[in-house]
Amino acid sequence: MNETEKRAKEFRLQNMTWSEVEETLQKCDVAIVPIGSLEQHGWHLPEGTDTMVAIKLAEDVAKKTGAVVVPPIWFGWSPHHMALPGTISIRPDVLVELVSDVCRSLVHHGFKKIVIINGHRIVNIPWLQLVADRIQEETEARIVIVDPAYIGKKIDEKLAKTLDFGMIGHADELETSHMLFIHPELVEMKKAKGHKPQKRKLYFIDPRAAEDTLVYVPSRKAEVEKLKDVSGGCTGEPEKATAEAGKEIHNYIVDNIIKAIEDLKK
Ligand SMILES: [Zn+2]
Repeated sequence: MNETEKRAKEFRLQNMTWSEVEETLQKCDVAIVPIGSLEQHGWHLPEGTDTMVAIKLAEDVAKKTGAVVVPPIWFGWSPHHMALPGTISIRPDVLVELVSDVCRSLVHHGFKKIVIINGHRIVNIPWLQLVADRIQEETEARIVIVDPAYIGKKIDEKLAKTLDFGMIGHADELETSHMLFIHPELVEMKKAKGHKPQKRKLYFIDPRAAEDTLVYVPSRKAEVEKLKDVSGGCTGEPEKATAEAGKEIHNYIVDNIIKAIEDLKK
């Protein structure tokens, strides 16, 4: 493969020239914006876990669809995780403005469909919904938000049956498996220590929950502080994680995002 051919396969916006962007747009007007968080993920996972998951999903989807991947937004809204060192939290209004401006710029250049891949689960979702609504009101563009917890609901249900994976937690068996598959060099399994929360009657944020539930209530810093010595800030049972499960989760979600993009193109 010569240099020109190699460049033609580039899908990361930051590595493309403007004329390559123009050429790409003639074939595909889909842009993917990966966003996550930079927050504590227990003793065994890196702070950037949520964003790393979003980036890898975005890149694997782009390779198969011709979409362009925008440089990731490494920060999300994480006030509750400020309890432990390293977390960087962006205020919701700043997040909304930042992601809105990224989307506006993309639409300005001709990207008519924007897929926001959110690795930070429900904590980022309200703000991203504001962005999507705002941009769709302002422009003709379609904005969709993809989150592994929702678009991977079926595979999570399967792993709950076959590997006894539990409900959505934090730095849990799902996230740890995903990271064991995409970034095994950054996972310290020997340090993984779980903490299975007691079943609550009216407070579930897991889309798989069958029970009645409250609407989402954000966690508080004091709750994360309590976990510091128990599980290093983790909720769930990361000891059950495997790279094979991570591969299943990853590929399942990639296939579903591709289907979502095909639908958008219709
Ligand atoms: Zn996470």
